[in-house]
Amino acid sequence: MTEAKVALVTGASRGIGAAIAIALADAGFRVAGTATSEAGAAAIGQALGAEHLGLEMNLESDDSVAEALKAVEATLGAPLVLVNNAGITQDNLMLRMSVEQWVKVMDTNANGLFRVTKPLLRGMMKARFGRIINLSSVIARRGNAGQANYAASKGAVEGFTRALAQEVGSRGITVNAVAPGFIETEMTAGLGEEVTENLRSAIALGRFGAASEVAALVAFLASDGAGYITGETIAINGGLYMN
Ligand code: NAP
Repeated sequence: MTEAKVALVTGASRGIGAAIAIALADAGFRVAGTATSEAGAAAIGQALGAEHLGLEMNLESDDSVAEALKAVEATLGAPLVLVNNAGITQDNLMLRMSVEQWVKVMDTNANGLFRVTKPLLRGMMKARFGRIINLSSVIARRGNAGQANYAASKGAVEGFTRALAQEVGSRGITVNAVAPGFIETEMTAGLGEEVTENLRSAIALGRFGAASEVAALVAFLASDGAGYITGETIAINGGLYMN
């Protein structure tokens, strides 16, 4: 029997990341999932079970990322699957947006990608196998008033995906992005009733998506069957935006 591959999922404490961690565990990976708090990390470990790992990681901190990656490698081994899922919004119209709101979203969503991905490439190259899956958003292409920082950060995710795919393809590493539309999580729970209704009516399938539906797509991209897909951003938005 071949040993189970290790998958690292950032932001696995809730929402889409939690569903991805479960889907990858079900698919036979040994999963390390991260949260920003000790309690969140412990809850992930408990939800996934003994073969897996929950740990603390703050994408805004070089030291926190380095420490977490060291712990994953020591406990489970080098991750050959990386799901860059953790992300934040800090919405505001551009005229009112503070430098802090711009910087925080860019630092977490774009710089965080660099902090986590770079150190894991060596292990994937050595194994001549890797799957890197980055969470973008429909907002990167569609745009949305009040989300210039978030749209810019997710545009960065998609450009990064295409460039890195070209760098590492010859080593058997695929790099793809997944761009969800509106998925029912805490990130979208704060939208008002009117906004929610307007959005729903613009979605061809007439409903918001479930985190488990995004997780199923990510699990496919992590599988051997997806070995000839790279550099793509795959939309999963119920027909909210077609391109
Ligand atoms: P969510 O429910 O708000 O969960 C966010 C996750 O990211 C949590 O696990 C959180 O950890 C973690 N996180 C937040 N700040 C972090 C930081 N500085 N360092 C490390 N981890 C951090 O989000 P979601 O809705 O599941 O979204 C997941 C991904 O999908 C994001 O990249 C998001 O942009 C993208 N997306 C979501 C939707 C949607 O409709 N929900 C649509 C398109 C794209 P804690 O629990 O410890 O705070």
